[in-house]
Amino acid sequence: MNERDNPLTGVGPNTRLTRAGYSPFDYHGFINPPTVRASTVLFPDARTMETHGQKYTYGTRGTPTTDALCDAINELEGAAGTILLPSGLAAVTVTFLAYLSAGDHALIVDSVYGNVRHFCDSVLPRFGIDVDYYDPSLDAGIEALFKPNTRLVHTEAPGSNTFEMQDIPAIVAAAHRHDAVVTMDNTWATPLNFRPLDFGVDVSIQASTKYPAGHADILLGTASANATHWRRLGHANGALGMCGAPDDAYQVLRGLRTMGVRLERHQASALAIAEWLEARDDVARVLHPALPSFPGFAIWKRDFKGAGGVFSFVLAVAPHQDFKAKAQAFLDGLSLFGLGYSWGGFQSLALRVDLEDRRILRAPKEGPIIRLQIGLEDVDDLKADLARGFDAAG
Ligand SMILES: *Cc1c(COP(=O)(O)O)cnc(C)c1O
Repeated sequence: MNERDNPLTGVGPNTRLTRAGYSPFDYHGFINPPTVRASTVLFPDARTMETHGQKYTYGTRGTPTTDALCDAINELEGAAGTILLPSGLAAVTVTFLAYLSAGDHALIVDSVYGNVRHFCDSVLPRFGIDVDYYDPSLDAGIEALFKPNTRLVHTEAPGSNTFEMQDIPAIVAAAHRHDAVVTMDNTWATPLNFRPLDFGVDVSIQASTKYPAGHADILLGTASANATHWRRLGHANGALGMCGAPDDAYQVLRGLRTMGVRLERHQASALAIAEWLEARDDVARVLHPALPSFPGFAIWKRDFKGAGGVFSFVLAVAPHQDFKAKAQAFLDGLSLFGLGYSWGGFQSLALRVDLEDRRILRAPKEGPIIRLQIGLEDVDDLKADLARGFDAAG
C-alpha cells in the first residue's frame, strides 16, 4: 500500500492502534480476526500444491491471525516486515542469528537484557562469533570499538534494570559507516514512545510479552526490519522453524487496541511514584529516564515521546548494613507489589536487581537497586504499600 492509499496516514497513535492489522470484512464483518490454528493447509489440486500457488501453505509460514498481528506491528513500527517469535528473548537471538556468521564480531550494550548476554556468552562463541560489550554512554565514541569484522551493533534504551539512555542516531551513524546492522530492543518504549526505524535502526525488537500483551499471561516477541534488512530476517526465521502461536498472536493483537491508554496510565503513575521516591531520605537515587535528575534525561527528552512504567531506585543503606538483607526486608514488607519477573501487566511488581553480570557498568555504592513495575492500581495505594516496605526495611 502506498502512503496515499493508507487510511492510517497522518492519524494519531491511538487511532492507529485501533485500526492496525484490522480487516473485518475479510471475516464477514466480525471486528476481530478468527484464531486460525494450523499445521496443514489444504490445496485444491496438485498443480496449486506444486507451485505453492496460494497465500497460505503451512502453519509455520503464517496464518491469517499471525499475519494480522504482523501487519499491525509493521504499521506501528513503520517496518517492511515483522517476524513473530515465541518469546522476547527469541526475538533477539533469532535476529542475531539472521545477521551474524562465523568470523564476525558484534558490539552489545552492557546494559542489555540479562538473558541476551547469556546467549552471547554461551551460544555465539560456539559459532565463531566474537562479542564485546560497550558502555551505553559511549554514544558517538562507539566508533573506536569497531573492528574490520564488526557486523552488528545491539542497542537497548533505556537499558535493562538501570535505564541508561543511548544516543541512537549517533550510534546508527557510526555503525552504518562500518556497514554494521543496528538492532534495538525497544520493549520499554514500545513504538508509541519511540520508533527505532525512524531513527535509522535496521531491526526493532519488542518483547510483546510486556505492554502489547499487557496481562502477564502471554509470551511473544516481534522483530521488525526496514526494507534493506527484511529479506534476510524473514529467511532466517523460516530456516530456523520459528513462529508465533496463533492464540498468542490473537491475544497480543487484542492487547494492542488498549495499549495506548494502558501506557498513559503506567507512565503517569510511575512518574508520580518516581518523584515521590526521589523526595524520600531512605532513597539514594531514582533511575528513571523521564526525571530531570537522571543522566539520560536530555536524550530521552530529545528522542522519546513518552515513558514506560518500569524504573528502579537505589535504596539508601546505613554504613556496614548488608545490601541483600536490606533489600529482602523491603521486598518482604510489600503486599500489593508482587515479587516476580517480567513487567507490562496490570499488577505492580518489585524485585532486587542483580548487576553481577555487568562487564563495564558498576553497581551503585549507596545501596541495593530495587526495580518497580508500576501497574494499573491506584497510586495512593501503591505509595502506601511502598511505605510499608520502607518501614519493614528501616
Ligand atoms: C522481558 C524482556 C525481554 C524478554 O522477553 P520474554 O518474552 O520474557 O522472553 C527482552 N528484552 C527486554 C528489554 C525485556 O524486558
